Amino acid sequence: MELNFAGILKSEGIKEYFDITDNLIDSAVVFGGENLNIVSPITVKGSAINYEGKINVDLTINAKVERTCSRCLESFTEEVQIDSNYIFVKEAKDDKEDYYICKGDKVDITDLVLGDIAARLTMKPLCKVNCKGLCPVCGKNKNSINCQCKSEEVDPRMQALSKLLDRK
Ligand SMILES: [Zn+2]
Ligand SMILES: [Zn+2]
Repeated sequence: MELNFAGILKSEGIKEYFDITDNLIDSAVVFGGENLNIVSPITVKGSAINYEGKINVDLTINAKVERTCSRCLESFTEEVQIDSNYIFVKEAKDDKEDYYICKGDKVDITDLVLGDIAARLTMKPLCKVNCKGLCPVCGKNKNSINCQCKSEEVDPRMQALSKLLDRK
């Protein structure tokens, strides 16, 4: 995934719009120990402007990522939309602004985009807000099967308390 700044580098103030659809096949992203499968394509839309010796890039990234539900362990697709801003400069400057170096006319933004997607994903993904998860007794997916197991989830603090009461 490349941005070409050749046109806007000609003079200051030139703005260029772009709309990229990229089939990033085999782009593995690791997030919180999870290998993410990005469902192609990723779309990146935005603009770049050459201003005061910097190239200011604003983009909106849309991607779908295959995730595993943290409750029922079924896989599902999480959609993300991210608004990102990157600043590119020809050479490092001595200020505290965050920028990336772009020596030539073109810059590969694949890693930046993948990093932004990974950063936006939810830590504990859920296939749906009210996912019922797996039954702690029989292990069945309670979203599809209504098992008759008795839930024996007892708060460990309550358990300790009931032991104390039993001793009396
Ligand atoms: Zn689920
Ligand atoms: Zn059950």
